Amino acid sequence: MRITALLLLALTALTSAVSYHGYKVVSVTPHTTAEAQVLQEAVQQLQLQQWTEPHGLGVPVDVMVPPSLVEVFLTGLQAKHIPVQVKITDVQAIIDEQAAKRPVSQSLPRTFDHNKYNSLEEIESILEGVEEEFPSLVTISSAGTTYEGREILMAQVSSDGGETRPVIWIDCGIHAREWISPAVCQYILDELTSGYGTKSEITELLDTYDFHILPVVNPDGYEYSWTTDRLWRKNRVPHEGIVECHGVDVNRNFEVAFGEPGASDEPCSELYQGPEAFSEDESKAVRDGIEALGSRVTVFYSLHSYSQHWMTPYGYTDALPDDYDEMIRVVEAGVEELEAVFGTPYTYGSVANTMYVTSGASYDWAYEIANIPYVNTIQLRDEGTWGFLLPEEEILPTAEETFAGILAATAAI
Ligand SMILES: [Zn+2]
Repeated sequence: MRITALLLLALTALTSAVSYHGYKVVSVTPHTTAEAQVLQEAVQQLQLQQWTEPHGLGVPVDVMVPPSLVEVFLTGLQAKHIPVQVKITDVQAIIDEQAAKRPVSQSLPRTFDHNKYNSLEEIESILEGVEEEFPSLVTISSAGTTYEGREILMAQVSSDGGETRPVIWIDCGIHAREWISPAVCQYILDELTSGYGTKSEITELLDTYDFHILPVVNPDGYEYSWTTDRLWRKNRVPHEGIVECHGVDVNRNFEVAFGEPGASDEPCSELYQGPEAFSEDESKAVRDGIEALGSRVTVFYSLHSYSQHWMTPYGYTDALPDDYDEMIRVVEAGVEELEAVFGTPYTYGSVANTMYVTSGASYDWAYEIANIPYVNTIQLRDEGTWGFLLPEEEILPTAEETFAGILAATAAI
C-alpha cells in the first residue's frame, strides 16, 4: 500500500515535470532603436521567455524559443538583418545530461561538496554538519518560514559570539534557477569556517567582521527548480482566483520604488512584484534579518546569475547614489582581484546603468532604507554560453574567483 502510494507520487512528479525539449536559447543583438523594438514586439507576440533583459543597443539579449516558434522568430529577425546566434540548441538535452551526470548520494552529506549542485535537503544537512563541526564559530537559525513551510536558513559566522562586530551580509538563491548562487554561498561558508585559525587572512577577517550568510533565500522555488521546472525563478505562492500560474519575484517585492518600471503587476509574469511591498515571506526574512542587526550591517551582497556584472545601487533609476564613488572604489578592488584569478571579465557600475532598470529590489532597499554603506549585487558566471545551466565543473572556479573578489573588496574598505 505504502509502496504504491510512493510510486504514484514519483510518477506524478515525473509526468508533471516541465519539459524544454527542443527549446533553443537565441542571443539577439539589436543595433538600432528600431531593431530593439522589433525584438521586443516579437518577444511579446510570441510570449517568449527572456533569459536576460534587454539593455541598450549592441548588447545581446538571450531569449528562449520553443521549437514550434524557432523558425518564425529567426526568419523574422534575419529578414530585418538583426544579428542572431543560437547559443543553446536543446535546453532539455542539457538539463537531462546534467541531471544524469549528477551523482546520487546514498545518504545526506554532512560536509561541503563544491563539485556538484546540492539539493535543498543536502544543503540543509550540510549546514547542520557545519554547525556541529564548528560550534563556537557557526550558528544556524531560521530567518523565516515560507508559504510551503520551509525554513529560510541563515548561518552566522562569528569568532566572538556574534553580538558586537560589523556584519557582512551575503544572501543567495533569491531566484530559484540561479543554482550557482547557493553554490557560491556554500563555498564562502566553507572557506570561512575551515580557514579560521588556519589561514591568517581569514582569521583576521573573522576577528574583524561577523558574516550572516543565507544560502537559499527562496527554498520553495529552489526545491521546485529541482523537482519540476529547472528554469523556475519566483517563489511558489498561489494567486487568488488564478490557477494557471504561481509565484512572486521576491527581488521586486522590497519596499523601495515598489511597482515602478522594471517590475510587473501581472501575476503570471516572471517579474511579478506581488500584491504589495513585503507581501512575501522571503523578502520579509531578508528585511527582518537585516533590521535585527541594525547599524552593524556594513556590507551587503546578493548573489545572482548570470552575466558577470558586479553592481551597486541604484536599480530603480540611472541616477547615482551619494555614496557611489566610495562604493565603486571598493567594487573596483574586488573586480580587479576577481578577474586576476582566472581572467573572467566582469563589468561593474550601478544596476540601472550596467544592466537594466529594476524596482522593488533588495539592493536598493538595503542602501536607501536600511542605510547599509556598501551594497553590492553580483551576477555570477557566465555570459550566456550556458546561462542558468552553468555546468558543475564551473562551480569551483566561479566560487574561488568570487570569494577572492569579496576578500579584496573587504580589504579595501
Ligand atoms: Zn537573479
